[in-house]
Amino acid sequence: MAAVFVFWGCLMSHVMNTYARLPVTFSHGQGSRIFDCEGREYLDALSGIAVSTLGHAHPKLVAAIAAQAGRMLHTSNLYRIREQELLADKLCELSGMQEVFFGNSGAEANEAAIKLARFYGHKKGVELPTVIVMEKAFHGRTMATLSATGNRKAQAGFEPLVSGFVRVPYGDLDAIKAVAEHNKNIVAVMLEIIQGEGGIHLVDSSFYRGVREICDSHEWLMICDEVQCGMGRTGKWFGFQQAGVVPDVATLAKGLGSGVPIGACMAGGRATGLFGPGNHGSTFGGNPLVSTAALTTIQVIEEEGLLDNAARVGALIRQLFGEALAGVKGVVEIRGHGLMIGIELDRPCGELVGKGLAAGLLINVTADTVVRFLPPLIFSESDARELVERVAPLIKEFLAA
Ligand SMILES: *Cc1c(COP(=O)(O)O)cnc(C)c1O
Repeated sequence: MAAVFVFWGCLMSHVMNTYARLPVTFSHGQGSRIFDCEGREYLDALSGIAVSTLGHAHPKLVAAIAAQAGRMLHTSNLYRIREQELLADKLCELSGMQEVFFGNSGAEANEAAIKLARFYGHKKGVELPTVIVMEKAFHGRTMATLSATGNRKAQAGFEPLVSGFVRVPYGDLDAIKAVAEHNKNIVAVMLEIIQGEGGIHLVDSSFYRGVREICDSHEWLMICDEVQCGMGRTGKWFGFQQAGVVPDVATLAKGLGSGVPIGACMAGGRATGLFGPGNHGSTFGGNPLVSTAALTTIQVIEEEGLLDNAARVGALIRQLFGEALAGVKGVVEIRGHGLMIGIELDRPCGELVGKGLAAGLLINVTADTVVRFLPPLIFSESDARELVERVAPLIKEFLAA
């Protein structure tokens, strides 16, 4: 497929300057590979930040989207939408949840979750419903999700923040218990099972089970933000299944539609049946096109055994990096689950992203010091070997400099 692109030639673009963009434009992709407008090939170990679940141009997804586009893109949530209902059924079957609201992004999915928590609190007679959130959490860029996010840099300049959040250190059950003692307004705990933007942080599964118990004993909602760690990325459908808990609310987006914008807020347990008509909504949410893409994504994950693949190939990547970087001074830790992997270094390492790009590799650095890999779930063992063979020398060289 020879795509011909004329580059516009101007350095200043009229796109608002919200991203420090790398100087590359891509034209097309195939599986785990993506090609820039000059025809250079890159190994994609980022998936557009955990989005391209099935890699690029998966034939079944392409065909399903094209067929749906030929029938109908959009109707409205004023009517029943068959594809959306099928998707909700499937997500509930996989997650053990009871009902699903569809929006268009992770932030919107989390907005719905926060609104559910407040609505639940008011129904219980709590006047100022408050949600416990974690340090280093990332929940989105809208006002409420930014307020829930544990990153002062992201919040700076956007005050006043939305009230109704209390923050505790990630993994600190005692801190949650202490808040429970003195704050009678708490209605929910919101967390990522693996913190993505925060630096691929995970803690012992006893923490998540402890949160579940505290939520049960106080009749709070346990909300899992699965926007990054959900949809098979960790080797199970949802991160909370790694931890052996079932939350009352779980949110999805990124990988759900394998590249089309769709978010979901799933509710079960004591969060079931809270919203009625008029309480929440979205014009585009769960329209026939995006619901078809998400349904097809799930179908292909099942048909191609991509959960097992994510677990196996992810373990291989961690093992090979462990071998390649053994004893290298400056490597703090290699961690993650499945295809959600971080290598923490002892210093800021943002420049590795540009070095990777120049070497034909799409990798990422988050939280200043963590090299992050979020490859598509179709990543093969040979992709994994190639990734480590090509990235480990970059890391070594960087640390030796
Ligand atoms: C990316 C992300 C979000 C925000 O998703 P958007 O689609 O960018 O709004 C929320 N939570 C987590 C855990 C994320 O990784």
